[in-house]
Amino acid sequence: MNRARPGRPDADSDKLIPMPLDPRLLDILCCPACHGDLVEKAEGLHCQGCGLLYPIEDGIPVMLVDQARQVDK
Ligand SMILES: [Zn+2]
Repeated sequence: MNRARPGRPDADSDKLIPMPLDPRLLDILCCPACHGDLVEKAEGLHCQGCGLLYPIEDGIPVMLVDQARQVDK
């Protein structure tokens, strides 16, 4: 039992850091409910058309009307 393990400090304790959303992704995404433009907010992607806010989980926008919530414009 003398196997040396390559040093990978904190490999398992890395925190998930939210990645900034790719602007090109924003470009091709649109609201599934009304096909309106989306604007990136701290809480998620906000539709300018119908005011739904889509959550972003682990850097991936959840483009489901089911998961979206209505917010004031
Ligand atoms: Zn919309």
